Amino acid sequence: MIIGGLQRLTLIDYPHKLAATVFLAGCNFRCPWCYSSELVLPERIEKQPKISDKEFYNFLSTRKNLLEGIVVCGGEPCLNKDLPEFILKIKEFGYEVKIDTNGSNPNMLKKLIDNKLIDYIAMDIKGPIRKYKELIGLNFDIENIKKSASLIKTNRVDYEFRTTLVPGLLEKEDIIEIGQWLSGAKRYYLQNFRPQKTINPRFEKLKPYPEKYLYQIKEAVSPFFDVCLIR
Ligand code: SF4
Repeated sequence: MIIGGLQRLTLIDYPHKLAATVFLAGCNFRCPWCYSSELVLPERIEKQPKISDKEFYNFLSTRKNLLEGIVVCGGEPCLNKDLPEFILKIKEFGYEVKIDTNGSNPNMLKKLIDNKLIDYIAMDIKGPIRKYKELIGLNFDIENIKKSASLIKTNRVDYEFRTTLVPGLLEKEDIIEIGQWLSGAKRYYLQNFRPQKTINPRFEKLKPYPEKYLYQIKEAVSPFFDVCLIR
């Protein structure tokens, strides 16, 4: 496991909690609009300054009474076989743990849930199932995505699904398709695309969708979810 970054305080990444975010390097997807190439592309990960385990655990011990939660983010954290042990250590300091995942490893998610290691799951929904391969930039067994989504929907751990609205890749009809797929889910967040340091530089020139269009999409998909918000 490579710790590729640490945000020492976040007020927005863990709902209703004062938290820090730890970034684990490595990802099995290549979403062209990804903002985190330094945590995804091996040649960029190599050059990225790393944080040692010792430094991270030391940070956890000094913030024990100040922070409530730790967000474990990537890259894709569920690629790390030692993730359960890593999270267990975080929990031993008394923190609640949120995981951000692309949903590619349902077995790891199940293990974390069964062992009561996570308190909140945020799964990226890249788009409707039929567009997944195009959106993640490579071939992948999409059954794993479906399994993760249904596991999350039916388990006891609090969760959200979220989608980044990338112009040219996703339109209102695609989001409605996602709504039909995940119908009945608790929370669904729509995130506007930000044109900055994307894996594929072509995406840095894209203009985000106007806010008005996001609200139209939200109105169309809200009936599928308990809560649907723009973030
Ligand atoms: S957006 Fe997430 S899943 Fe996609 S390449 Fe970046 S880190 Fe991986």
